[in-house]
Amino acid sequence: MAFTEEQPHAQESAPPGRHRDFDVAPEEDLLYSLSADGKRKFMHPVVHKGRFWKIRRAIAYGLFVLFFALPLIPVGGHPALQFDIANRRSHVFGGTFYPTDSLILVALGFGTIVTVFFVGSTFGRMWCGYACPQTVWLEFLFRPIEAFLEGGPTNQRRLNLAPWNGRKLAIKAAKWSSWTAVALLMSSTFVAYFTGWGPLLRGLATEPAAWTGALFVMAFVAGAIVFDFGWFRDQMCTIACPYGRLQNVLADRDTILVAYDEKRGDPKVRLKDRLVGVLAGDCIACRACVNACPTGTDIRRGLQPECIGTAQCVDACEEVMLAQGKPIGLVKYTSEREQQGGVRHLWRVRNLAYVVLMSVAWGTLAFLLLTRADALVDVMRGGREPYRLLPTGEVANQQRVRITNQLPETQRFTIEVLSPRGAKLVVSESPITVEPDRLVTVNAVATVPRSVFVDGQAPVRYLVRSDRGFRKEVEFLLLGPYAPPGGTP
Ligand code: SF4
Ligand code: SF4
Repeated sequence: MAFTEEQPHAQESAPPGRHRDFDVAPEEDLLYSLSADGKRKFMHPVVHKGRFWKIRRAIAYGLFVLFFALPLIPVGGHPALQFDIANRRSHVFGGTFYPTDSLILVALGFGTIVTVFFVGSTFGRMWCGYACPQTVWLEFLFRPIEAFLEGGPTNQRRLNLAPWNGRKLAIKAAKWSSWTAVALLMSSTFVAYFTGWGPLLRGLATEPAAWTGALFVMAFVAGAIVFDFGWFRDQMCTIACPYGRLQNVLADRDTILVAYDEKRGDPKVRLKDRLVGVLAGDCIACRACVNACPTGTDIRRGLQPECIGTAQCVDACEEVMLAQGKPIGLVKYTSEREQQGGVRHLWRVRNLAYVVLMSVAWGTLAFLLLTRADALVDVMRGGREPYRLLPTGEVANQQRVRITNQLPETQRFTIEVLSPRGAKLVVSESPITVEPDRLVTVNAVATVPRSVFVDGQAPVRYLVRSDRGFRKEVEFLLLGPYAPPGGTP
């Protein structure tokens, strides 16, 4: 590996015989993705397959597999993950959730937010560098396709500057078509998370006109993916992403970050400019760290919001240090406190508070999931009249009973009256058979003696049971006459 392969900023080279420290090119006072004239600077990071890159690649491939597999693998008769908006339910690893499970959703949302805070405060931007879809897809799929077709960063730059000819046209067409094909696969998988692959493919094959909404979403998402990973790229992290801005608020002096050790590295002197007896740090000003950075950040200038924690500069510098026969760690994971000679505290009040909140949120979620009922039962009024007086002197109320089966197997339900004494219930269907994840509504008529009514109301208690062990007592208020028999209202 030639560490001086990319030298976009000539100012860093010291004239022979003169030992200059690192100079900052005027354009480096701008956002790294901008030139001094305001034009976009495209990044072509040099890949160094160091230890952190290998870990990130393993995580990235795992996430790719997960993304494509979740809507494909059946669990309990449904995709492992499906947001079935049309039927107002979601399937998550065999469990089916309904809009009524809003508490579970709240616990999940709260747990996620607090976990993001914890990760941001403790591990800095590791989420961005290791697991964020923006970094993962760009660095481990879209850029590799580009490198496969166009060659390394130097060749990519050369091709971009070259005049248009047949070869350039063919390479660019191949690159953008490959990206579009990948984007379409990603966007159709995205749609399948909502529709399921089976209905989506059947629908598109048999009645595509009825699936124009899905086709529109697929095209729109694919377009957004190609735009983002093909052109917008690092600007998503440095300009658009709100998490990056939030990160600055979450970090403290003990947050893990990638940093350059200036005590050890400075003064930065290039190898060819080093003279015996002249002070020089371990940094050989090769810019390998800068050239490896997907956002163009010069980590030697300290902590910057453009750094998304990919550790690509760490891998690059480790390669340089090893080639120089020097210890690694000139660019490394550390914290602000550690950098200033202190000892990093892993646990401090801030992230301990997050741990407590996380425990509450995830604990609540676990409790809600473990105690989640096998069925939902709702009793509602039915019929047009509030009640009917029977010739027997009893009062009849029509009702509708709605049962949702939340188990992955069929349940048969029966309903009986527990109170008041003398009450009877006739259900239009008994037992009530409800298939997994289905909802069945039946009609029922409750008949109670007129004497139990007080102020036109009488509470009734039902016991709903299923052959799968489900038991639930349901209370309901029956309506009836205000006056006792023969009395006045
Ligand atoms: S920090 Fe390391 S990779 Fe970066 S310029 Fe110095 S020696 Fe090269
Ligand atoms: S400065 Fe280093 S860690 Fe930060 S984004 Fe660039 S390569 Fe990644």
